[in-house]
Amino acid sequence: MSFYFTLNTGSSSVKFSLYKAHDKPEFYISGSIECLGPSAKLKMQTPIEQVRRELGPIDHASAVPAIFSALEPFLKGSSVVGIGHRIVHGGRSFFEPTELTPKVMDELEQLIPLAPLHQPYSLATIQAAKQVFPDALQIGCFDTAFHAGHSFPNDAFAIPRHFYEEGVRRYGFHGLSFDAICNEMRDRYSQVANERLVIAHLGNGASMCAVNNGHSISASTGFSAVDGLPMGTRCGRLDPGVMLYLMQEKKLSPEEIETIIYRRSGLLGLSGISSDMRDLEESNDPFAIEAIDYYCYQARREVATMAASLEGIDALIFSAGVGENSALVRSKICQPLAFLGITIDQKKNTVNAPEIGTGPVRVFIVATDEEQVIVRAVAQAHSKSQVS
Ligand code: ADP
Repeated sequence: MSFYFTLNTGSSSVKFSLYKAHDKPEFYISGSIECLGPSAKLKMQTPIEQVRRELGPIDHASAVPAIFSALEPFLKGSSVVGIGHRIVHGGRSFFEPTELTPKVMDELEQLIPLAPLHQPYSLATIQAAKQVFPDALQIGCFDTAFHAGHSFPNDAFAIPRHFYEEGVRRYGFHGLSFDAICNEMRDRYSQVANERLVIAHLGNGASMCAVNNGHSISASTGFSAVDGLPMGTRCGRLDPGVMLYLMQEKKLSPEEIETIIYRRSGLLGLSGISSDMRDLEESNDPFAIEAIDYYCYQARREVATMAASLEGIDALIFSAGVGENSALVRSKICQPLAFLGITIDQKKNTVNAPEIGTGPVRVFIVATDEEQVIVRAVAQAHSKSQVS
């Protein structure tokens, strides 16, 4: 038997999934190595059991061999024929799943300055996967690719033009998640899938996307994945004047500012309690309440922005950890949007029903599955390579 494998590399974790390599890949095992560093942990769901293991010191490069040895008993001598990698930044060159040849790897290295907090980790994982699985087809799938067709007003910043030409653009992120949700909409709700959709991916990272006829029109993330909505620990939209103040008046270094806007802001920064929405919902602390209010207000505002870029809205879709599970957040976002035709049934909302809207705009809760998009790309590339 042959297998396909997906690797989704974050700054402190590597998620993986193993599929039986059929034309329609069949899910088999998934897991992750979290807390990469001195005391990494393996979590894995196999067909027979849940595995939890302390791994000790593991970095991104050594994560792949560690995953391989955890999977070895299940591979039983079978081969991994294709590996799909989630890559955050495809710059202006990569709009399609792409085989990760040495030339492509060189080009992806050039993009490190555009995504210094993500790209190097992805590249380290890919190099390790090439060593562990030298015969497998290695395919890169890009988070920016889904947003590649944006028009100039949704692609540029109003700074001197030469920066745009140099690549300072609103690339947009979470594209694999939006792509997965669009696929799911086509499978389950074909009558609305090609209309004007606003998709809210609300997880640890959070962003929104306006989709028309299956194509991304606008995204709330921009040059980096820190722009747009407030997130667990990222600040979202921030007046550039605040950055200048932090540098010039507070004398903070770029590294200190990076730590603030990526790791100490968002829900964590506002509440001073936690980046996890569940903790804030359980708390009576006024700062926790204000953090949730800010989060929902900015999300509500973004829905209206997305609706404006689509010249209307036919469906609003909630996804990811907060979007799929928090009735409170969905309610606080939707309740003031009745003027747009967005109203929800509170009973259905409370039980996370698949469809919760009651007004002219349909409102859905859809689980995202980035791995599904990646493995489909691997299966396609693999079957093409078999023909040629
Ligand atoms: P990631 O972006 O890391 O993939 P997830 O999509 O898993 O994140 O979302 C994680 C977040 O989802 C958690 O930080 C938590 O705040 C939120 N979450 C999960 N379950 C619930 C719930 N029942 N109620 C509110 N928030 C939840």
